[in-house]
Amino acid sequence: MRFYSTNRKAPEVSFKKAVFKGLPEDNGLYMPAQIPLFHEDFMASLTRHSFHDIAFAMARMIIEDEIAEADLRTIIEEAFDFEVPVRNVHDNIYVLELFHGPTLAFKDFGARFMARVMGHFLKTDQREVHILVATSGDTGSAVAQGFLGVEGIRVTLLYPKGKVSKIQEQQLTTLGQNITALEVEGTFDDCQRLVKTAFLDEELKEKINLSSANSINIARLLPQSFYYTWAYSRLMNEAEKIYFCIPSGNFGNLCGGLLAKRMGLPVAGFIAATNVNDIVPQYLESGKFAPRLSVQTISNAMDVGNPSNFARLLDLYNNDHGKIAEDIRGVSFNDEQTRSLIREVYENHAYLMCPHTAIGYGGLKNFLDDGAKGIFLSTAHPAKFKDIVDPLIEGEVEIPERLARIIEKEKHAIPMEANYADFKSWLLEKH
Ligand SMILES: *Cc1c(COP(=O)(O)O)cnc(C)c1O
Repeated sequence: MRFYSTNRKAPEVSFKKAVFKGLPEDNGLYMPAQIPLFHEDFMASLTRHSFHDIAFAMARMIIEDEIAEADLRTIIEEAFDFEVPVRNVHDNIYVLELFHGPTLAFKDFGARFMARVMGHFLKTDQREVHILVATSGDTGSAVAQGFLGVEGIRVTLLYPKGKVSKIQEQQLTTLGQNITALEVEGTFDDCQRLVKTAFLDEELKEKINLSSANSINIARLLPQSFYYTWAYSRLMNEAEKIYFCIPSGNFGNLCGGLLAKRMGLPVAGFIAATNVNDIVPQYLESGKFAPRLSVQTISNAMDVGNPSNFARLLDLYNNDHGKIAEDIRGVSFNDEQTRSLIREVYENHAYLMCPHTAIGYGGLKNFLDDGAKGIFLSTAHPAKFKDIVDPLIEGEVEIPERLARIIEKEKHAIPMEANYADFKSWLLEKH
């Protein structure tokens, strides 16, 4: 499979090249040159497949023979060594829990897959790669965990000072080894700008082998399509129409679902749910894409003012706003509404959600008609947002063991202004 840039000015590349470049030189995003279609037999036998079977089949269709079958299977089995349950919450509303990985958030899917894919390619290459990651919380810890101790790879994480939860910060700053955290005086958008600028800096690229691991990396996007097919297979015999609702920030997760649909998954529709950073819901409504500065909310992993995957969303539909709006509905919730949703679902259905997940639930609840079933994606474990969740349930959310251990560790972070010149000289000094 070849991969082109959504800006159509950079040359097409192999999967390996797309993974290590991250961002094409024309500042677009990589997409597969053809989107392959599921075989009829595959769809007919879907309910009999395991999550690993589905993930392998989909990865194989896109990556083709650039990774040998046996190696790809190992990558998938090691990357997704945790459960991916679909549970009923009430009536026709289901949740796809994506938080059973090591960092308790859905970004483990993309990060663990990408880390193992890169590790696989680097084994034969014998070179060092420096990965830059801007994170609004969960990306960084997932990526860091994925790469921890992987030879030939250094990771630098940039996170906005004071804008991630205590637990998130501990996850970002306590790993050590080949992982360094920069505490940036600014917003997530500032962090993302520093990283994007570095990737376009020719002088820097001559000296350092830079690579990205954000949701813009194609190896992060692919695995985010696997679990849509899996969740669909769990419910396909019970409902005529199945909808997905995705709590969204950079829209990588939604793009994974759109990719699965283009491969032939007969999803009835998608709901894109955001916090007050509702740039995409507004676009769906008006046809106008108007990025703006992000606003801080309690669902901080979705505080994004200029969603980085928007170009992919447009590209999947040839820029046709009408077609996009046919498949995707937008909705947004403020913090007060988010809090009510957490409280309500806990009281009435004994199901506890993190603030992001609550927005996913809210997007689905008022939308479904009879005969349809809806699946909202749970993107993080509620314990990661204990400060917000505890007062709402008048109790204490239980902290899973793998999170409790991290809270005890000592923080190591390097302070950094949101200034490209400073960032660049720091990078050059390190090499
Ligand atoms: C990253 C993240 C999101 C948003 O996902 P996108 O792919 O950026 O839209 C939602 N919830 C949580 C917990 C996240 O970490």
